[in-house]
Amino acid sequence: MRTTKKLIEDVVKELVGEEALDIIFYLRGKTKISEFIIAEELDLEIHRTRNILYRLLEHNIVSFMRKKDKIKGWYICYWDFNEPIIPYLTEKIKNEKLAKLRERLAREEKGQFYLCRNACARMDFEKAIEFNFKCPECGEIMNQQDNTRTIEFLKQRIEELTAEDAKP
Ligand SMILES: [Zn+2]
Repeated sequence: MRTTKKLIEDVVKELVGEEALDIIFYLRGKTKISEFIIAEELDLEIHRTRNILYRLLEHNIVSFMRKKDKIKGWYICYWDFNEPIIPYLTEKIKNEKLAKLRERLAREEKGQFYLCRNACARMDFEKAIEFNFKCPECGEIMNQQDNTRTIEFLKQRIEELTAEDAKP
C-alpha cells in the first residue's frame, strides 16, 4: 500500500485528531526536528505542541531522540514522522472497524429488537420483557422492530471495507 496524503490524514484524524495534521505534514520529509522549532514554525504553544507529539507517539506515528543542548544545558527532543507505520495503522483501523461491524451484524441477525413508535429507546427481547413491552420513556407499547434494513446496511459496509483490500 502506498502512503498517500489522504491515507496519512485518515489515520492521524482517526487516532489523534485533526489538530495533529499540521505537525505531521510539517515533519513529513524532514528529520530530527526540535520541538521548539515545530512550535515556532507552526505558531503553536510549546505545551500544546508537546501534548500533540506525545499523543502521536502513543501510536508510534512519531518517534523522538532526546539530546542535551550544549549551550543551554537542558534536554531537547528531536522528532521524526514515522511514515512507514501509516499503512500498518490503516490496516489495523480497518480490521477493528470490521470486527465491530461483524459483531454488530451477528447481534442483529440473532436478536429481536423492540421499539416504541416514538423511537425513544431500542432494546433487545430480554430488556423489553423487563419493561413489559412498555416504553420506559413515554409509556407506549414497544413492538418488535424489523431490522432487515439495519442488517443489509451492515452487510454492505462490511463488503465495502473488505473490497478496499482489492484496490491497488
Ligand atoms: Zn417511547
